Amino acid sequence: MISWFSLKWDLQLEVEKYKELFQLSEKLHSTLNVDTLLGELFVTLKEVYPNYSYHLLLSQDTYNHSDLPIIDLEYDSENMTVINAYESSEIQFESSDVTKHAALYAPLKGKSGIYGVMQVIAPEVTEFPSGEAEFITLLSSSAGSALENAKLHQQSQRAISDLQLINKTSHQLNSNQPLVDTMIYMSEQIKSTFEAEEVGFFLFTKDQLDAKVLSGSTPFFFTQQSRIYIDYIKRKFQQNNEPLFIGDLNLPLNFHLAFHSVMAVPVVVNKKMKGFSIIMHQDPYFFPFEAFKLLQSLVHHSSLALTNGLLRDELEKLVITDHLTKLHSRKFLDEKIQQSMNKDEEGTFILIDIDNFKEINDTYGHQIGDMILIQVANLIKGSIRDCDIGARWGGEELAIYLPRVSLESGVAISQRILNKVSDRLEPHITVSCGVSFWKKNHQDTYQNLFKRADEALYRAKETGKNKVVIEGNPSMVS
Ligand code: GH3
Ligand code: MG
Ligand code: MG
Repeated sequence: MISWFSLKWDLQLEVEKYKELFQLSEKLHSTLNVDTLLGELFVTLKEVYPNYSYHLLLSQDTYNHSDLPIIDLEYDSENMTVINAYESSEIQFESSDVTKHAALYAPLKGKSGIYGVMQVIAPEVTEFPSGEAEFITLLSSSAGSALENAKLHQQSQRAISDLQLINKTSHQLNSNQPLVDTMIYMSEQIKSTFEAEEVGFFLFTKDQLDAKVLSGSTPFFFTQQSRIYIDYIKRKFQQNNEPLFIGDLNLPLNFHLAFHSVMAVPVVVNKKMKGFSIIMHQDPYFFPFEAFKLLQSLVHHSSLALTNGLLRDELEKLVITDHLTKLHSRKFLDEKIQQSMNKDEEGTFILIDIDNFKEINDTYGHQIGDMILIQVANLIKGSIRDCDIGARWGGEELAIYLPRVSLESGVAISQRILNKVSDRLEPHITVSCGVSFWKKNHQDTYQNLFKRADEALYRAKETGKNKVVIEGNPSMVS
């Protein structure tokens, strides 16, 4: 016979249980962190049903819950009861005489979707206790709506940070900075946002047959080992320009591959593929699908600005002033020398190359390197007349053309510049100069004039650097 006391006791237990549910509900709705929320859910289940066992089967679960009993919900799962609970969004039961337990599957339901299924197993019963089923249904419905809130919150946070990234990058791309700086910036952003190990940008050649690595790509893409990845992606894009999301890259011929996770997105402008970007990580399945979507947006939003930047760089080569040093361009220099050789009596040409510049870059960084280049250019500008032409020959090689100036004066000017560089620049650097000269009525071409200066410069380097060497005359070394 059931005593009044035991009835009261049962009632008391029920009250405690629902109090627990109420408290849990409050807690669940006060957190927007999915992990904390699921943790709380398990703690409550354990308190209320210490003998039961639990699992959560979550769909599209992209979070990393370290020690919670969470399983991915697969559509091809063999457990039809789970799929039924998920698809019907109704609670489902399952019992087995063999395993001697009964299981309940409660969908985690929000207003706009179902996020997974909670599996609760009651041991040593053939049927799930109906009173508990009611309680667990309430619990799962509370957890479902809290999970929905948290997920929506996380999604909006992610959307905000994605937009911020795209916005910042677009801004940078449109800021008229040298393209190299922009590419370095993009590369850094992609590396930190996606935790990528390698980031590469490539530009198709005009015939679309080859792809050139753009500066700003990580150093790996300038090595021979990267060719296998680049060629593979290039071939894929030559077939069609669909973005690629590869979880575990496998190539024929059993190549040993260092990188397994690969994302690649084409750069398309006016429906024409101009190039592509490759992002890699050594671990397989490293990048989540969200990262792939974000990368696509990022590349899509950057494509136009990127190709404009490339065009601008191309144009700069054609225009008469060098962007960095503000010296004349090589094209301008070529024209002026040819004109002078047609109308003047004589002229001197000086090629100036910074000594050990690679080392300077390696020691102080590319930016200080650029600054030195600018300072050398300024020293040159300050040492020549208005009618002389100071030019950037290319890279760290500068050139001066002195129309109507004798070799002797040209050498003196070279020596003066060489001394100024060595005395004034900080960090200390030196330059080497090769000097050539032409005179009317001596058969000569401007190509030969360049060649002779280049040979003289080569000898200056060979014989110890920081010196002026005059064309074809080893004795005239200063
Ligand atoms: P050498 O004395 O024989 O001329 O040695 P070097 O190191 O100067 O010559 P090398 O040709 O090996 O390297 C030239 C370096 O100049 C490599 C390249 O990174 C650097 N360089 C070329 N153009 C620029 C530039 O615009 N900015 C900076 N910072 N570095 C540049
Ligand atoms: Mg040099
Ligand atoms: Mg050089």
